[in-house]
Amino acid sequence: MSTYEDRLSALREQLKADRLDGFVVPLTDEHMSEYVGSYAQRLAWLTGFQGSAGSAVVLPEEAAIFTDGRYTLQVREQVDGRHWAYQSVPETSAAEWLKQHAAEGARIGYDPWLHTKEWVTKARQALGEKEAELVPVPRNPIDAIWSDRPQPSKARLLVQHDNHAGKSSAAKRQEMADWLKEQKADAAVLSALDSIAWTFNVRGQDVEHTPVALSFALIHQDGTADLFVAPEKVGEDVRQHLGNGVRLHDRAAFEPFLGSFNGKTVVADPERAVAAIFEALEAAGANVVRKRDPSVLPKAIKNAAEICGHKAAQARDGAALVRFLHWLSLEAPKGSVDELSAAAKLQAFRQAGGDLRDTSFDTISGAGPNGAIVHYRVTEATNRPIEMNSLYLVDSGGQYPDGTTDVTRTVAVGQPTAEMRDRFTRVLKGHIAVDRALFPDGTRGSQLDTLARQFLWRAGLDYAHGTGHGVGSYLSVHEGPQRIAPAGSSQAGGDEPLRAGMILSNEPGYYKTGEYGIRIENLVLVRPVEIGGAEKKMLGFETLTFAPIDRSLVEAGLLSPEERQWLDAYHAKVLEVIGPLLEGEVLGWLKQQCRPLQN
Ligand code: ZN
Ligand code: ZN
Repeated sequence: MSTYEDRLSALREQLKADRLDGFVVPLTDEHMSEYVGSYAQRLAWLTGFQGSAGSAVVLPEEAAIFTDGRYTLQVREQVDGRHWAYQSVPETSAAEWLKQHAAEGARIGYDPWLHTKEWVTKARQALGEKEAELVPVPRNPIDAIWSDRPQPSKARLLVQHDNHAGKSSAAKRQEMADWLKEQKADAAVLSALDSIAWTFNVRGQDVEHTPVALSFALIHQDGTADLFVAPEKVGEDVRQHLGNGVRLHDRAAFEPFLGSFNGKTVVADPERAVAAIFEALEAAGANVVRKRDPSVLPKAIKNAAEICGHKAAQARDGAALVRFLHWLSLEAPKGSVDELSAAAKLQAFRQAGGDLRDTSFDTISGAGPNGAIVHYRVTEATNRPIEMNSLYLVDSGGQYPDGTTDVTRTVAVGQPTAEMRDRFTRVLKGHIAVDRALFPDGTRGSQLDTLARQFLWRAGLDYAHGTGHGVGSYLSVHEGPQRIAPAGSSQAGGDEPLRAGMILSNEPGYYKTGEYGIRIENLVLVRPVEIGGAEKKMLGFETLTFAPIDRSLVEAGLLSPEERQWLDAYHAKVLEVIGPLLEGEVLGWLKQQCRPLQN
């Protein structure tokens, strides 16, 4: 077992051998994935950082790690400050830091399979001012020193049947082929793993929390496709399902295959395809057109089967969460529950509910001050007991064959303080304002973000994350292109117009460092709304997540009559949807939690 210090020195030695004066280490894979397989966890291996977003730069004498507002506390706990300078993005980007810290004329390496072309262009510009050079490496120097690096997974592909997918792969590919004709393009590259899973109606088991398989694909103007995936992953059932329109190749054959597009016009997505793909196509003499991956929008706009499946998954998931919250209400006051045992119990309830394939992310189980760490992941070292007169925040979700869930509840154990109740109620008011919003077709997520924050702002408070993200259908829990996030924030997607059929989270929060965290998260569906006399096509949200909101944290006097009405109607609906799946004591408890506020 090498220490993080050993690994950093070994990397510096390797860089010397490779004649490099520095190297950039992102947290992603060849598909720009958010969650990556263990074989691609280079940032964690090198630094110890366990968060889901970040990057690092290593120079001969210094090194820096770059994380956003969600990880300000976590990075300081996990990464040794004697060797790594903590930098926060977007204030300081890796490129900017390099501009200030790299030596005049330095050769800084990057792995072209792990960065977008846009990143390369920007970083090259920044370094150019220093007369330093950004150099693509033929082999990642970390892989050269990571002796026990895991192999990519060999797990089998699974068929996602039409009853859940709602549209056949052939029909999806035909729509993309029609689009390619309009664009006067011969083919489109798909390199995002969820795009490939959605397009071919397959799911994989290669990445934790996201049911995707390591693969690449090309869609052609005639509706046929080339799919690049390790052959041992494709069983006879999948081969049959894919049919004659899909030619199978080994994943390793993808890069050489790009060399065959001389004189052809090929669409590649600058946000989703890595620089190496553009470089291979350009080197082959292809005309590369930078456009969004044609599966992104149809994947985000859920069809009737996907919506129906999502609702079934939500009911199962909600029943498991209610069983957990009931259990917690009995056990936590005894002082016998900690963050780890609570997360395990919640998972057990989800498993018992049936059809659970995986959690949709690592459960955030935060007691007291740990609740204030936005993307907290409980470990043996950080595990805290849930104490009396404190808040407990639990953000979790499940991957089911019919849908992906993501829900946060914050509960008081014992007596909450007046401040906790005030903050919770402000967060709830923001949550309700988003849920009740009516907006014209074409409205962007960023235009709704303020609705969620307004009541916190009035008290001089805020939260350092977006209000909502898209969610996949038995796919990524964070799915683009839409988001509800402040305009101009680092979180891309706030500019995407919301469209009927999109699923988003609605998750405002409030975090008091060292004391407690609050977040209330439901998923919502964008749907058309009929308004008498309306002069515009209007949209609104339908709530998809059903679980009680802790009434002991609600300061009813701060709610408007409409907000009280919303909460009562929401709780009535929770009982209607989840009640039939419960019995006995749990059902009795849920009825208590869902009674109208006035009583
Ligand atoms: Zn969540
Ligand atoms: Zn979420």
